[in-house]
Amino acid sequence: MNFNLDNITRENVKGLSPYSSARDEYVSDGSTMIFLDANENPFENGVNRYPDPQQRGLKSILADQKGIKEENILLGNGSDEVLDLLFRAFCEPKQDNVITLPPTYGMYKVLSGINMVENREVLLTDDFQPNVIDIKKAIDNSTKLLFICSPNNPTGNSFSTKTIEKLLNSFNGLVVIDEAYIDFSSKESWVSKLADYPNLIITQTLSKAYGMAGIRLGICIASAEIIAVVNKIKPPYNVNQLTQERATDRVLDKEAVKKEINEILSERAKLIDALETVSFVETIHHTDANFVLAKVDDATLRYNQLLAKGVVVRNRTTQPLCENTLRFTVGSSEENKILAEALKTI
Ligand SMILES: *Cc1c(COP(=O)(O)O)cnc(C)c1O
Repeated sequence: MNFNLDNITRENVKGLSPYSSARDEYVSDGSTMIFLDANENPFENGVNRYPDPQQRGLKSILADQKGIKEENILLGNGSDEVLDLLFRAFCEPKQDNVITLPPTYGMYKVLSGINMVENREVLLTDDFQPNVIDIKKAIDNSTKLLFICSPNNPTGNSFSTKTIEKLLNSFNGLVVIDEAYIDFSSKESWVSKLADYPNLIITQTLSKAYGMAGIRLGICIASAEIIAVVNKIKPPYNVNQLTQERATDRVLDKEAVKKEINEILSERAKLIDALETVSFVETIHHTDANFVLAKVDDATLRYNQLLAKGVVVRNRTTQPLCENTLRFTVGSSEENKILAEALKTI
């Protein structure tokens, strides 16, 4: 491998220095000061001050929990913002390209469209694993990012460790491993391998296992050098005060999060059992996430029948390799009983 961060960073980004906000310039050492530097309203209401642009409090807890340093973390307004920042930092519009592996998370394609960056799609194999040979064929000197979603949405499976290692070792661009569902997975996070791969970026989120989709908090984990580049282009106050506070409370409450994850995993097993008894379910794909992808006889018919019974699932039939599949999110015990009953009576 011949990875060089300077070679893959956009020229205009190389020349930037981050916007220096009032809250960046003076960092409190804890002594009592009056803040007349940011044109804020002085009447305290809990949110009248600008939030910490570097989210130091939250980052230090996350760094501690994940066994990394704060300089390895960038936080965003959901992982969707983090992914967008990666496009903007590394991909020259109308010139560079990225590789995605359908069927996968739809935002990679949306973001490549928004940023005018070619999206080279390399289908997963029939057992939903990356096709290393075809990926290597698709790579050229303008390929900047390779998106690997593991566990993958919508298929639910994790990709083989050996396969991902091969890609990390052979690609001179950045390998982005989207770990939105890692907390439901039996596999270890790639965060522990951060030091081994200078081209590795991991994204995580509080939207799934942590139950905080509404506050929008995405996590980007990479080498300090990569994080420094992305930091240059991030909007200064991209993670608001309320989000920083709620996220901090939540990540500190490890027991509560763990308990919910375990409950979801046990409901997932029950959901799979229930699906196995349904006559029109043909295949239940192995899952490492909080959803199950199942092939049915006629996805659109079954989707509409479930709708009529008040249950909304995701019809994935138009996705490549996903003909006649439905994606079922694992709900609460009560919700899953209603789903099982609906499936039985269709
Ligand atoms: C749900 C999901 C996300 C979460 O995105 P946020 O913007 O953090 O809510 C990211 N990646 C994948 C693959 C997802 O399914």
